[in-house]
Amino acid sequence: MRVPFLDLKAQYLSIKEDVDSALQQVLDRTAFAGGPFVKQFEEEFARFCGCEHAIGVSSGTAALWLAMLGLGIGPGDEVITVPNTFIATVEAISFCGATPVFVDAEQETLTMNPHLLEAVITPRTKAIIPVHLFGQMADMDPIMEIARKHGLYVIEDASQAHGAEYRGKKAGSIGDVGCFSFYPGKNLGAYGEAGAVVTNNPELAQKVRMLRDHGQPRKYHHDLIGWNARMDGFQGAVLSVKLKHLERWNEARRNVARFYEEALGKIAGITLPHEAEYARHVYHIYAIRTNKRDDLISFLAKKEIFCGIHYPIPVHLTKAYQFLGYQKGSFPVTEACAEEFVSLPIYAELTPQQLEYVVKSIAEFFNSGKN
Ligand SMILES: *Cc1c(COP(=O)(O)O)cnc(C)c1O
Repeated sequence: MRVPFLDLKAQYLSIKEDVDSALQQVLDRTAFAGGPFVKQFEEEFARFCGCEHAIGVSSGTAALWLAMLGLGIGPGDEVITVPNTFIATVEAISFCGATPVFVDAEQETLTMNPHLLEAVITPRTKAIIPVHLFGQMADMDPIMEIARKHGLYVIEDASQAHGAEYRGKKAGSIGDVGCFSFYPGKNLGAYGEAGAVVTNNPELAQKVRMLRDHGQPRKYHHDLIGWNARMDGFQGAVLSVKLKHLERWNEARRNVARFYEEALGKIAGITLPHEAEYARHVYHIYAIRTNKRDDLISFLAKKEIFCGIHYPIPVHLTKAYQFLGYQKGSFPVTEACAEEFVSLPIYAELTPQQLEYVVKSIAEFFNSGKN
């Protein structure tokens, strides 16, 4: 039996009629760049997140970059984030001209450890970017408290956390601004590249709206130096269709997680993900930990079960960020994860047979004595 890591085709087939008709409408109206389909999705997504404003942009990376530009972050500023994230979080800081500063993750949730924040705040610190890793939100209450105390902005990187909650509040709605990616494999994925910025701050919303479209509030009236980071019409239309299914898909991911937990919880040698008491985890990634990671991945691949690693190299140890001067040993929690993580397949379209096969195969690996 084959178990792909991700099955976008199966998902598409389950909503084909609606997607095809939405794409046809974009063609019929030739609403390709921005336009009515993007606007409609923005309204729906703002409501979904419990925010006043949503601005559709061209990617999650652009969302982070424009959000920071909109807050006035630039050269000479420092922005604190975590090294266990996709590199885009950090690239966006660099592309503003600011300097990334890292703090390690907390042991259980693997999100930003709030206890480490105050030690790295300097007079140049402007903002904190907690990353809601794998579908679970960072511990926002203490992060917000420290940010308020020091007059810092909080930018939520919610690219992996569409619909996740912290004490009943949706991802993206707690900080000054929330940034989402709709890369195809995300919990809410476009059929191409797309992202969004959400906020309750009307000035920031207006500024990001201008920045994504050459700094113009009206065509050819350029008040700011902006960029072209618009969302395209096809993505807006597809995202509106898919948003209606997001809650159901997130519930299905949670059910897969519960199944894995029951079946794998008894196996010695595996650490399972932890859902914090404050969280509604939406399991973008289901990463287990084992010190036999590479052997497990090849064992499963031979059985046509495909896993991922998120992420094999922490950002502070990448070649690109060597210049910041961090070393191996700088962030022990993050570094241990990078060596032990294995991401199992998790999506709504997994069949009970596939799930049984995955857990049986993992049990076989740990019981066979081969490892
Ligand atoms: C996917 C992702 C991004 C970047 O999104 P793109 O749409 O690929 O540009 C940023 N941050 C995190 C945590 C992500 O997972």
